[in-house]
Amino acid sequence: KRVGFALVGLGNLTLAELLPAFSNCQYAKVAALVSGNPDKAKKVARQYGVPEKSIYSYQNFDTIKNNPDVQVVYIVLPNSMHEEYTIRSAKAGKHVLCEKPMSTNSQSAQRMIEACEQAGKKLMIAYRIQYEPNNKKAKEWTRNEKMGKVRVIDATNTQNQGDPGQWRLKKALAGGGSLPDIGIYCLNTIRYLLGEEPIQVTGTVFSTPNDPRFKEVEETVLFQLQFPSGVLAHCTTSYGVHNSKWYRCYADKGGYFGLDPAFAYHGLQMDGSQVQDEMEVKLKSSVGEKNQFALEIDHMAQCVLQNKKPFTPGEEGLQDHIIMEAIYESAKTGKPVKLKKIDKQDAFR
Ligand code: NAD
Repeated sequence: KRVGFALVGLGNLTLAELLPAFSNCQYAKVAALVSGNPDKAKKVARQYGVPEKSIYSYQNFDTIKNNPDVQVVYIVLPNSMHEEYTIRSAKAGKHVLCEKPMSTNSQSAQRMIEACEQAGKKLMIAYRIQYEPNNKKAKEWTRNEKMGKVRVIDATNTQNQGDPGQWRLKKALAGGGSLPDIGIYCLNTIRYLLGEEPIQVTGTVFSTPNDPRFKEVEETVLFQLQFPSGVLAHCTTSYGVHNSKWYRCYADKGGYFGLDPAFAYHGLQMDGSQVQDEMEVKLKSSVGEKNQFALEIDHMAQCVLQNKKPFTPGEEGLQDHIIMEAIYESAKTGKPVKLKKIDKQDAFR
């Protein structure tokens, strides 16, 4: 039996990636849609075989509690709406899969965790990279020191944002600019690869003066993370330059590995290079591609079926908010910011 998902928000991600991904799922099905646009919702419902009685508006959303076909609500709304819909879903007795960033700040993320705990419902943050096979391989190589110990990681996630009127460029809806939207991939993936939590961060923030896109949120953030084991990471994120989405892990036995693209929706590939007997050997992964959205959705479905805690729970989203707040603070004060030390065994994985 497949677990029924209600998708909240029929925007770009839902229409172009998530709804099509359900056809690659083994344990999940689309059971309901929530939208502010009834005509669009009806059209999409017909396309995906969702009965009309399972279409909700933002106003009557709470009546979803009476719909036994829905076990999970997948929240795909602007960031500032994640908290409200998580709390309403938990109150309606539904588990929650919430898009990244979890919210717009750490206090809000904390409230989301508490709401789901109180309701006895699961909360997962949709960090698709952690379910993607090439990134999983990079994690394995980091952890088993395939090329020696990783000492330094470089990660970049940039794109050129267009329309100045979009919600991503409004502070109240987005929470911030490039950092919480796309820089979060660098941060979250590095934490995932290492299985450690940073003890110190530094950040630099810059926005081009008078660019109408960056009146409320930042354009570019460079940040560094320092980990207890001594690993240093350097990350770049920007809304003002062309697409680059990659990372590279430099290890101490003459090699590096990474992904390029690393954070895109499709075409992810791991590669690397290793020096052996004075020869540089280029490495190319044959891991292959799987639909990472389907893997992520199926993970949540399996957690429901087997009553397990998701691999990327609310605490994982909260930790990213805490670190991003420290990065902004460092940029503001011009000083490194120390973070509470979290022992490896208490880290998230
Ligand atoms: P989008 O703008 O394409 O869609 C947002 C949806 O929310 C639309 O259907 C819109 O009508 C609805 N909405 C309701 N109230 C709104 C309001 N006040 N202002 C604007 N829209 C409103 O956005 P998206 O790209 O689909 O992003 C949605 C969420 O998904 C965000 O949290 C984003 O960070 C996340 N996301 C994740 C990935 C990923 O790869 N995991 C990719 C893209 C977006």
